[in-house]
Amino acid sequence: MNKRDYYEALGVGRSASEKEIKRAYRRLARKLHPDVNPNNKSAEAKFKEVTEAYEVLSDAAKRRHYDQFGHQPPFGPGYEGAQHPGGGPGGFDFSQFDLGGPGGVEDLFSDLFGRRGYTPQAGPSKGEDLHYSLDLNFRDAIRGLSTEISLQRHAACPTCQGTGVGVGGQLEGCPTCRGSGRARAGRGLFGGHQACPRCRGTGKLPSTPCGSCKGDGTVLKTERISVKIPPGVENGSTIRVQGKGQSGRTGGPPGDLYIGTRVRPHAFFERKGDNLYCEVPISVTEAALGARIDVPTVDGKASMRIPPETSSGQVFRLRGMGVPHLKGSGRGDQFVTVKIVLPRNLDARSQELFRELGRVRPEDPRSEIWKG
Ligand SMILES: [Zn+2]
Ligand SMILES: [Zn+2]
Repeated sequence: MNKRDYYEALGVGRSASEKEIKRAYRRLARKLHPDVNPNNKSAEAKFKEVTEAYEVLSDAAKRRHYDQFGHQPPFGPGYEGAQHPGGGPGGFDFSQFDLGGPGGVEDLFSDLFGRRGYTPQAGPSKGEDLHYSLDLNFRDAIRGLSTEISLQRHAACPTCQGTGVGVGGQLEGCPTCRGSGRARAGRGLFGGHQACPRCRGTGKLPSTPCGSCKGDGTVLKTERISVKIPPGVENGSTIRVQGKGQSGRTGGPPGDLYIGTRVRPHAFFERKGDNLYCEVPISVTEAALGARIDVPTVDGKASMRIPPETSSGQVFRLRGMGVPHLKGSGRGDQFVTVKIVLPRNLDARSQELFRELGRVRPEDPRSEIWKG
């Protein structure tokens, strides 16, 4: 598995100061902390990643080692915790982190969430964003596309409108946390308080849970979502579809859906920015005498004039036949490189004609090379 660069994980430059690293980590930790994102595997993975990155980059010695050697070779003795937190997939043992001493991760967290531990967020919270990767063929990326994608998301339970309360029931104080929304957590990094796992920190539970969602308020639904891909997207573009992420908790707004595009390359066209490049063969006669030829474009055929005395490798521009600009109006251009192709299997008559041409025009095309 490729490990992400620690600086990249924290979104800071390689020359970031200690302060900048701390600030970046605080911002990410607030967003990704498991207490804020219960049962969110992707947030949990990201949280581990940024925590590990912070563990290393906030320690001058570890950072120097990382700058010099990267993730490989492994950190030496004393750095095991930083290299393999939790000892592989599945487990993440926070206790492996360096808990001692001021400035450690624990210190930062008590700082971040208050001395008495993290106070869970109650009340409405926005749903998580969803990410989807969409494969597009070359032309669809250029012309745009209306399509439907199918994805699973937690949507507000239609039976209880997302409240989790069943028929005749109401919201009552959670018996586990006695309505506080907080629970004692075990030892380790986040010792102190955590969001109550039973009520997810809201402090309330339905007296009669909704039968459809078992009181959760959300149901997993496979949904078909119409998306419009604008003309001109490229490999790695992101399109935001508002409100199509996970539904919010306790009446919060839904998250957004982010569609990342993966564009397959084309056999004939090459794209650089909004310009298209291609190579088109022409005959000796067309090159010598000029011609009008048909050239493929993303819109179909276009007629292009080859002037007399065209050489192989000459480039012609078809203005406005490139990719529509994603931002603003207009389009890029298409650049056509011509390549002269000789006739094959010359018969006696054709050979005679070329010899004749050689006698009439006994030129040396390489004479320029020897000058200077
Ligand atoms: Zn509770
Ligand atoms: Zn329900």
